Amino acid sequence: MHSETRDLLIRGGRVIDPASDRDEVCDVLIRDGLIEDVGAGLGLPDGASEVQATDFVITPGFVDPHCHLRQPGYEYKETIATGAAAAAAGGFATVCAMANTNPTVDTKSILETVQEIAADQSSVHVYSLAAITIGLQGEQLVQMGELSDAGAVGFSDDGIPVASSALMRHAFEYAKRFSRPVANHCEDPALTAGAAMNEGPTSMRLGLPATPVQAEEVMIARDLALAELTGGRYHALHVSAARSVALIRSAKDRGVNVTAEVTPHHVTLTDEIVAGRWEPMSASLRPYDPVTKVNPPLRSEDDVQAVRVGLADGTIDCLGTDHAPHADHEKRVDYAGAAAGFSGFETAFAAVMELVHSGAIDLPTLIERLTRGAKVYGLPHGSLAKGAIADVVVLDPDREWVVDVAAFKSRGKNSPFHGQAFRGRVLKTICGGRVVFDLSEDPVETVGALGI
Ligand SMILES: [Zn+2]
Repeated sequence: MHSETRDLLIRGGRVIDPASDRDEVCDVLIRDGLIEDVGAGLGLPDGASEVQATDFVITPGFVDPHCHLRQPGYEYKETIATGAAAAAAGGFATVCAMANTNPTVDTKSILETVQEIAADQSSVHVYSLAAITIGLQGEQLVQMGELSDAGAVGFSDDGIPVASSALMRHAFEYAKRFSRPVANHCEDPALTAGAAMNEGPTSMRLGLPATPVQAEEVMIARDLALAELTGGRYHALHVSAARSVALIRSAKDRGVNVTAEVTPHHVTLTDEIVAGRWEPMSASLRPYDPVTKVNPPLRSEDDVQAVRVGLADGTIDCLGTDHAPHADHEKRVDYAGAAAGFSGFETAFAAVMELVHSGAIDLPTLIERLTRGAKVYGLPHGSLAKGAIADVVVLDPDREWVVDVAAFKSRGKNSPFHGQAFRGRVLKTICGGRVVFDLSEDPVETVGALGI
């Protein structure tokens, strides 16, 4: 699975490393899997290969704080190996996997099983969150100390909200002892029951059962209140609504220990695509296409604008893909009955580059948001500082391409971006000094990029 670690000199690219406050044209030297040096005019060491990156951007490998790799239990949707290959193709050198596998990651032995599979089969760094409650049942807390010691980077029942406020309070109190964040799927289950999309004019027109943004608002308000009460660390997953951004902004202002993430789809798509309409879309979707179904649902234009502003001003700390691969048969049913979620790794960077091209955010800030997940979970990644683990991506912010889900490395072909023309492409991903994705060597890619 692992390619050889190679010493590489990446020459002449625009190096953007927010962690080191660096944005300049220079070289990056990788030796023995580490960043050996960053600077202009570096010499080529004996035995090292050279990569010309003129006109390209060199950044730390992206860090995804939120994905679903589906193994164990749902290998028909994705495996750790296929998910890692998809992550690498998306520029992610580090991913954090959610615990809603089968069995649930709720004991040390299951966590260790996942870690062993990842160590053996993954091309990128895989970290695991553990569940908050046993079997995601919302009744009994997991052994947080034991799981934390075994390497769980945080706790989440993602996919299912923790309904009990008392249990959530205890989760914050226990996780705080181990300095781990608690990440809740922020939807009030009583307000989302039976819902298939966002409540608003589009759901009225389509006649689909819907859930209001208040389902997210009340859950985030509760979790912020409990984080404040306990002093625990709260990470708000996939924030989608303007009201949520306002709550998090005010909580941060008064010192609540909270971080937040948003997905690429919630900063780019509105609920109108459920009706088949989306102005920037070059591809066409038919109304009621279950490929647009996701939790939390796509929201209104006002919500999209608010989460974009929140991402730009830092109220929302990072981008998380919520990569959620499903099999075709789980999406090719009626809208209400379809599985929710998008296969997100391979379109994430291109989708969010729209924010840069439209002037909503500048490229260094976007790169910061694509790597800050490392800080949320305390991971030694997301930096090009000397001596850092050599996780590096080479990007072409202007490369035009059209998404074809048939070319996805993920087993999940469930993307609303199929057929979309994007501007911005990952050319090469290096993880721990190994080249784990190279567009120029990709069999489905006809355009040569960077051959080394
Ligand atoms: Zn979720």
